[in-house]
Amino acid sequence: MTTFSAAPWLDVPADHPFGIATLPYGVFSTAADPVARVGVAIGEMILDLAPAVRLLAPQLAPAVTGPSLDTLLAAGPQAWSQVRASVSTWLTDTSLGEQLGGYLVPMRDAVMHLPFTVADYVDFYASEQHATNLGRMFRPGQDPLTPNWKHLPIGYHGRAGTIVASGTDIVRPCGQRRGTDGQITFGPSRRLDIEAEVGFVVGTPSRLGREVELTRFEEHVFGVCLVNDWSARDIQAWEYVPLGPFLGKSFATSVSPWVVPLAALDPARVAPPARTVPLLPYLDDSQTPPWGLDIRLEVRLNGHVVSTFDGMYWTGAQMLAHLTANGASLRTGDLYASGTISGERPDQRGSLIELSWGGAEPLRLADGTTRSFLEDGDEVVISAGAPGADGAVIGLGEVRGRVVARLP
Ligand code: CA
Repeated sequence: MTTFSAAPWLDVPADHPFGIATLPYGVFSTAADPVARVGVAIGEMILDLAPAVRLLAPQLAPAVTGPSLDTLLAAGPQAWSQVRASVSTWLTDTSLGEQLGGYLVPMRDAVMHLPFTVADYVDFYASEQHATNLGRMFRPGQDPLTPNWKHLPIGYHGRAGTIVASGTDIVRPCGQRRGTDGQITFGPSRRLDIEAEVGFVVGTPSRLGREVELTRFEEHVFGVCLVNDWSARDIQAWEYVPLGPFLGKSFATSVSPWVVPLAALDPARVAPPARTVPLLPYLDDSQTPPWGLDIRLEVRLNGHVVSTFDGMYWTGAQMLAHLTANGASLRTGDLYASGTISGERPDQRGSLIELSWGGAEPLRLADGTTRSFLEDGDEVVISAGAPGADGAVIGLGEVRGRVVARLP
């Protein structure tokens, strides 16, 4: 088998997470050219996509021109594969260094922006371990999984307008909470947390009144990004019964700057965990190619690794089928997130409330300080990778954010 690698003029190591097998899309600007535009990451560089396409494949230019990924998302799966195949061909071509060199921007010189206009936002709850851990803490003495959990992917509609680009400061939210003494007070959250998740980015819309079947996942979903669903546990615990998450979640949700196309994740497809409850036909994926994804996340708090990842019960294809099962239509730019990704081991938990077990077992960081929840000034970075073909790594980049105090 021949090794598939970037052209020598790019000088990208074969094992770079943004090697030739990844080719994620983002939106960037530079001090020299402050216009936001679409780029493809290759190693430590960004290919300025629109001028490269105008030069080498002008028929594709309309899909990649503009200040966001919106036009590319709307262009549909045929355009997605044409653009990806073209970029892949150019960046492996030993003779194009001179023509494309001028369109490469060092990543360190770029400012990354929110990559697409977020239409609707849905957040699922697809990790059995996370749902079990939270059920134990929020509803002690009861069955940790609700009776519906293995029959449908549970989710809620979130707030699209407060989805922010990686690097945006997170202002500590205020809200109503009930203390252990029963007192109801209003003020800055004392239990601010993270949730490490994978987000699915919808490109192709669907018709109102028509569900999107499991097998149509790839026609509608363009790719994945990383999501940090910042969560105020004290606000959440008091408000969530009976209608679910509201102000404890809606103050900010961070997304990574790079969207990795589904095509890049083909080698990372795995069977989801064994189903212990029979599924209704619209969710039954036992006869379709599996859409579990072997994505490994890492959460760093002030530089220290605090957790990693295992497998999710529900797949992105099942979440999409369920999200549209009632006939709700999709729009370009819809984002739905997996829910916190937690593994079976305690060090694989994707939120602080699980890692510190509700504050009972504070985490000790390498600098000697301890954390149950986030303090002002704390920075959280979630990064991820997936296995590619021939030992390659498919990087998902990172999503970062720092907690800041609310201005007086
Ligand atoms: Ca969440």
